[in-house]
Amino acid sequence: MKIVDLKCALLGSHPVVRVVTDEGIDGYAQAEFWKPFIKPQILGLREAILGQDPTDIERVMLRIRHRGAFKPYGSAVSVIETALWDIAGKAAGLPIHKLLGGKVRDKIRVYNGGIRFPLGAHGPDDYAADVRRMMALPEGFTILKQPIGFHSAMKTVVPGFHLGEPRSQGMHGLLERGKLTERGLAHMVECVAAMREAMGPDVALALDCGPGFAFKDALAFARAVEPHKVLWLEDLLTGDYSPNVDAAAYRELTHATDTPIHTGEQIYLRHNFKELIATRAVDVIGPDPCDVGGLAELKWIAEFADLFGVLMAPHGTANGLLGLAALIQVSATLPDNFIAFEYPIAEPAWWSDIVTGLPDPIVRDGFVDVLDKPGLGVTLLPEAARRYLLEEDADFFD
Ligand SMILES: [Mg+2]
Repeated sequence: MKIVDLKCALLGSHPVVRVVTDEGIDGYAQAEFWKPFIKPQILGLREAILGQDPTDIERVMLRIRHRGAFKPYGSAVSVIETALWDIAGKAAGLPIHKLLGGKVRDKIRVYNGGIRFPLGAHGPDDYAADVRRMMALPEGFTILKQPIGFHSAMKTVVPGFHLGEPRSQGMHGLLERGKLTERGLAHMVECVAAMREAMGPDVALALDCGPGFAFKDALAFARAVEPHKVLWLEDLLTGDYSPNVDAAAYRELTHATDTPIHTGEQIYLRHNFKELIATRAVDVIGPDPCDVGGLAELKWIAEFADLFGVLMAPHGTANGLLGLAALIQVSATLPDNFIAFEYPIAEPAWWSDIVTGLPDPIVRDGFVDVLDKPGLGVTLLPEAARRYLLEEDADFFD
């Protein structure tokens, strides 16, 4: 089998790749809806993979892996890798999880991810009301993750939250950071306490926090919420779109608090997890298969992390329904350091009309079933999807 074309189209604002072969088998994968701008990076890899056997996935990856980078620029390589697995699975008549070593679980725990509501004033009552609403969802999530601190509009909405320069307009990341005020720290802790009280002991609370915290603020917050037993604090120091890792700072933080510390959604390739894992610099890592370099890359990282007692909770909030299938395929095979992955939804909602193969409802009692059809286990329907193509992508399915 040979690769004869690589195409990319925007469906909604998701870049979707189609790897075309000479045997009539196509591989599909999808990048985050935040990244329509990576389409040129995806198409820029076309020449490097033409003529290759798509089922020799690693040989193809050797030709393109060095052309990726930390989020958002690991996506192009990552989604091509996933599309190759889709082809390999379809060619073998097997779901991808069989090719990655086989499944070790039949259903997979997920957390709310793409399902969230506007938070209003970002006070303790708003947060408590929000978790009550999420606990009433039919999905029955057993883990909820909430944005807080620099990862939320709290930094703007709460007067005097920090001493830095107000810069971003609602967007999180390294755009805005600064020393927390006493009021800012107290506000965050009050919100955590209110959520935990509303949730009770049977649903776990994870918090997406930054990045942007000064080291001592991160430590003070982690210590202050120790009584509330949160599942993890995510990306306090670096994360999201930081182009770096800072394992040494994370190690100091992690070893100074009982609260579990999490990072890793922006990181590209196993090499950049090496120090985080081998020094136990964090308790939980969260690579995204659509950013880290693909499904096998995530699998290798999870296996290495398991050797060091580091837990695994893959990112994926904006990966769409093909991304959901990809998360299911790889998560089915991960060792028992796996906690849950971040559940992506159809965005826009018409994505549900152009993909078949997912159960209805998708999430039951906080779990999704492993998909056992060949490849990703879901099918993108050209006849249904064609009407959503932009004019420039009109030949995507031809
Ligand atoms: Mg995050």
